[in-house]
Amino acid sequence: MGEAVRDACIIEGSAVREWADVADVLVVGFGMAGACAAIEARACGASVLVVECSGGGTGTTAAASGHFYLGGGTPVQRACGFEDSAQEMARYLEAVALEPDRDKIHAYCEGSVEHFNWLEAQGIPFERSYYPHKNVIQPGKECLIWTGNEEVWPYREMAKPAPRGHKVAFDGEEGGGALALRILAQSAEAAGVRVFAYGKVDALVHEHGRIVGVRVRRFGETFFLRANEGVVLATGGFGQNPEMVAEHVPVLSTAYVQGGPHDDGLGIRMGVAAGGVALHMGQPFLTSPFYPPEDLLKGILVNGAGQRFVAEDSYHSRSSIAATRQPDGRVYLIVDASIFAYPRFAELTNQRLIDGFETIAEMEAGLGLDAGTLQATMDAYNAHAAQGEDPAFHKHPKWLKPLTDGPYAAFDLSFGQAVYTGFTLGGLKVSPDAQVLDAQGEAIPGLYAAGACASNIAQDSDGYASGTCLGEASFFGRRAGRHCAALRDGVGGSKPLD
Ligand SMILES: Cc1cc2nc3c(=O)[nH]c(=O)nc-3n(C[C@H](O)[C@H](O)[C@H](O)COP(=O)(O)OP(=O)(O)OC[C@H]3O[C@@H](n4cnc5c(N)ncnc54)[C@H](O)[C@@H]3O)c2cc1C
Repeated sequence: MGEAVRDACIIEGSAVREWADVADVLVVGFGMAGACAAIEARACGASVLVVECSGGGTGTTAAASGHFYLGGGTPVQRACGFEDSAQEMARYLEAVALEPDRDKIHAYCEGSVEHFNWLEAQGIPFERSYYPHKNVIQPGKECLIWTGNEEVWPYREMAKPAPRGHKVAFDGEEGGGALALRILAQSAEAAGVRVFAYGKVDALVHEHGRIVGVRVRRFGETFFLRANEGVVLATGGFGQNPEMVAEHVPVLSTAYVQGGPHDDGLGIRMGVAAGGVALHMGQPFLTSPFYPPEDLLKGILVNGAGQRFVAEDSYHSRSSIAATRQPDGRVYLIVDASIFAYPRFAELTNQRLIDGFETIAEMEAGLGLDAGTLQATMDAYNAHAAQGEDPAFHKHPKWLKPLTDGPYAAFDLSFGQAVYTGFTLGGLKVSPDAQVLDAQGEAIPGLYAAGACASNIAQDSDGYASGTCLGEASFFGRRAGRHCAALRDGVGGSKPLD
């Protein structure tokens, strides 16, 4: 981060002539993280002002399906007969993380049941029901679903698997995030949180070694807002900033990037300008799901050499990111007649049926594969599947069946041909209390970050589980609000800014 960016994003308090408003805690962004930070800071007795650059409800949370990744024995897990514990949940998250932050993972898992209860107490509805099929998002209001790699090898041997995706009770594949956000916004405003709408924060104000406020632009006017205790950045990711995407996570340049229109990474840049560091900026969430229907998991994914490269029962972003790593991005889903179906999202993802073939030799010719390559893969796969085994990738036995019922079909899942969608996962390095940390791991006084502008549980596509983004945005958003509000009582404290 150059001097120019620091100059643009950091203003000295001595330069501020007039403060337009003041609050104990200033929250920037009214998505999942911001709403939870605001509610919790207010519950601690702090005055809270949220600055939101839209009229509200336009961030990525509003586009989210509505999964929260929670466990350790939530009321839903217990009602549906699933045993889980904070220890097993933590074991899984540590195993699957790119760079596990044990303190944060343990805080998240140990606080998970309380957090579920808190979300429900705000009014977010969750049914006591279980959706048993492998799917991207359950179509109805059923709550509990498997949304990660808990049953995928090697994780099923490293931690006792349990389903932890909790969907907001909402009919349909989209809208659960928007419903949850509407409820949280009402809860925040009822608690006395004030909202400064249509205000874009573009700089932090620094004074005597602390962040003490923000600069806001609204309809051509400039305001300064003062924070007695601190500023919580909850501004979302950077997927809508093509320069940042090209610099940090170029694989997304070939994908359809989803997310709120204000995902311009400014929150991250302001945090870095204040002395913070950004982590995992090169890691996207990326997917082109080839299931449901779940029987398609019994097919195999092969690359341009006719070879498998991933356990097909992996969570869809894990198999998708593996697909992008294949030579020339060439990937095919191979099925036989007994499991043939179009992938549910084929129209959105352009996963085109290449053709049906009477024999594997014909399929090799049709796909332009070297003769004998796919045949060898299928011979080995089928021989082991008949024994309920998959020594190459350890696909779970429940998804194993020999692919011997011709004719055979191939769908084109090639990266660049099929549509892959995604968003950014990198963000500011933060403590378990959401304090923005510098390169030495010291907290920057008065500065917090949560949600997609911070780096916490969701770190990469290989280890992603649906619900970890909303889960961590709400969980660590609350911790940001609590910690910042507690500074009023003289709790906290950290090293002054240079
Ligand atoms: C299609 C889709 C479905 C998803 N489904 C799920 C799911 O089911 N479960 C899950 O865990 N994750 C899901 N995710 C990811 C998840 O939605 C996001 O990671 C999460 O909502 C981020 O929340 P946030 O509060 O950090 O950001 P946002 O919800 O994006 O909120 C940020 C807010 O800050 C405002 N803002 C930005 N910059 C400024 C500024 N400079 N000044 C003032 N305001 C500003 C924005 O307008 C916005 O309102 C999904 C993502 C997508 C794209």
